[in-house]
Amino acid sequence: MKIPKIKLHNQIVIALILGVIFGALFSVNQKKVEIISAAGSEDVESWSEFKFLKGDSVLSVINTSEQIVVSKKFKVLSKTFNSGQISAEVVFPDGSKKRFDGITYIDKVKSLGLMFKPIGDIFIRLLNMIAVPLVIASLLVGAASLTDLKHVAKVGGKIMTYYMLTTAITITVGLVLANVIQPGEYMPAETRDRLLSTFQDDASSKIEQNVSIDIISFLVNIVPKNPFNAIANGDFLSIVFYAIITGVFLTTIPKEKSKTIINFFEGLSEAMINMVEKVMLLAPIAVFTLIAATVAEFGFNVLQSLITYALTVLLGLFLITAFLYPSFLKIFTKMKIRDFFKAHRQTMAVAFSTSSSAATLPVNLDVCEKKLGVSNKIASFVLPLGATVNMDGTALYQAVAAVFIAQVYGFDLNITQQLTIILTALLASVGTAPVPGVGLIMLIVVLKSVGIPEEGIALIIGVDRLLDMCRTIPNVISDATGAVIIAQSEGELKKVNVDD
Ligand code: ASP
Repeated sequence: MKIPKIKLHNQIVIALILGVIFGALFSVNQKKVEIISAAGSEDVESWSEFKFLKGDSVLSVINTSEQIVVSKKFKVLSKTFNSGQISAEVVFPDGSKKRFDGITYIDKVKSLGLMFKPIGDIFIRLLNMIAVPLVIASLLVGAASLTDLKHVAKVGGKIMTYYMLTTAITITVGLVLANVIQPGEYMPAETRDRLLSTFQDDASSKIEQNVSIDIISFLVNIVPKNPFNAIANGDFLSIVFYAIITGVFLTTIPKEKSKTIINFFEGLSEAMINMVEKVMLLAPIAVFTLIAATVAEFGFNVLQSLITYALTVLLGLFLITAFLYPSFLKIFTKMKIRDFFKAHRQTMAVAFSTSSSAATLPVNLDVCEKKLGVSNKIASFVLPLGATVNMDGTALYQAVAAVFIAQVYGFDLNITQQLTIILTALLASVGTAPVPGVGLIMLIVVLKSVGIPEEGIALIIGVDRLLDMCRTIPNVISDATGAVIIAQSEGELKKVNVDD
């Protein structure tokens, strides 16, 4: 009997579902920790009180039985005290006690759900490895093939208008939802305090990065002093700037001279795309392991206390993905919405499982060109630019998160402050690097701009990974929509070939 061949995008979707099931079945026990002390390694679970000591003096007393609280506290304490100086006294519900001296390690007990994650990590690293050279090569060739500065300015102007417009709309959607649903009103003070104390240290380490958006220095810093440093640091905005400028100036020198360079980058870009196609063969297994690990590790009890907030963000992300982009496609192109989303199943699955627009860029380019017929000229210009500056999902999430945190702290945001959120979230999303978790750091900028306590990010860190995965989907779908719209308007859209 011949086994029917399952198409790659279907394999990825199946892997996603199986990964969720596997991760849920073999999840990390949230009430168990592994302690390595002078006496060796031991697993401890279901305590009623966990006391950290130094000699006989008490350093900290934890009254919840959640492993995450204990392991985070240990990480903090071990920064202040030498490894081995810390002891613990664990009290169990029946009143019995156990003491551990000379502790060097306390962390969750790894489950089967986490075991295969290295495969997924290799997949993400491969995609990231491809992303930087691909951005440079494709933008440079893209800009050079737009014949002259006027053409670059025209296409660039159109796409930037689209990017800024959609981002402003999505922030507004986020603000409206957060004001109507008022997720912050649902949080009891005691839950708030628990979240704040659990994630306080994570929050401070993010706040320490001291991000700020001063528009002038933001713009100044886009220009790299040394493009090679920018490349080495993965500084996407500067890389984009350098690649476009160089591409444009290649059109100003005699063809016989620019030809060699353009051929070189064209070759590099094509090789990268071919590499992506091969790397994607790994996607089903990688997606499975990544999702399984995330689900296995995720503390669902944190989700419970933040469910209204998470649902508000998810509703917003769903609305823009299901209605905003299709409306744009309908108004400005002849493409069938169904074909668009069918072709991009793979892109969405990769965005979701990697939480990175940069890692998804190679896939997005491949799908837009090969399946949706966007010319290389347009795709290679519009998509890398979008992956760097256009993050609708992130912007929407930042708006909801800012209002949510304000509500929990009992701040009333007036209309000027809400308008400030629109502006800063727009800039913050442009400044967000296309890699996991940066949206949360840039949120600090939004909070600062309206005077909401930055420490408030501790409230939402617990569900950030999950929301990061989800917000990366509209981040990349918005870029793809832009590419199709611009291609159509420039007469650069070929026939659709979705089923290949
Ligand atoms: N992970 C997002 C992206 O790469 C950025 C963020 O919101 O953290 O698109």
